Amino acid sequence: MNVLIVEDEKALTTEMELFLGSNNYLCETCYDGRSASEKIATNLYDFILIDLGLPDYDGLDLLKEAKKYNPEAACIILTARAEVNDRIKGLDLGADDYLPKPFSLLELQSRMQAITRRKFGLKNSTVTLGEFVVDLTNRAISHKGTEVSSITKKEFDLVAYMLLHKNRTLTRSQLSEHIWGSVVNDDYDSNYIDAHIKNIRKKLNAYGSADWLETVRGLGYRINLNA
Ligand code: CA
Repeated sequence: MNVLIVEDEKALTTEMELFLGSNNYLCETCYDGRSASEKIATNLYDFILIDLGLPDYDGLDLLKEAKKYNPEAACIILTARAEVNDRIKGLDLGADDYLPKPFSLLELQSRMQAITRRKFGLKNSTVTLGEFVVDLTNRAISHKGTEVSSITKKEFDLVAYMLLHKNRTLTRSQLSEHIWGSVVNDDYDSNYIDAHIKNIRKKLNAYGSADWLETVRGLGYRINLNA
């Protein structure tokens, strides 16, 4: 999942970027509101973390833009401001959560995981797909109790992303943007996604049927929970 971090404290930004990056989030960073505003209008993110106290911009205005241009992104407000009012305003404007500074990175991650579960209606972090079980916390896919250990990090990210958006067709471009952070421009890029899906199928099929991973001709891919 891709994350936009908007925070003018560079050391904190770097800490968040490294920590989330090591936990398989794909991060982009902005130190000011103007460049964040441009990114929000052109890219689609899964998470947008917004510091309310930016040098050139009102964080609450940025939040409004995020809700408008990135309606599917989960927004978390980071605030050093003691005022309860700003937090309430932020939540009223549709922020999914807020974290008062200083906060621990582990808390940030656990809040992000909770938002993901809530947003996608997951009761817990394991989901059954036919004969397979996907464990989103431990990032593992198993078949009747045996872990499919050959699945790579990126392959897992692809399955997890499609699983969260289950029963919905995702284009190669969407998958590329959210998993690799780059937009598909040509056939070469598109084939890249196809190759990953092919590898995932091959690895899973060695254990059992993965019919739930469907190709939607001319459009993209979908995990079909009714398959
Ligand atoms: Ca700040």
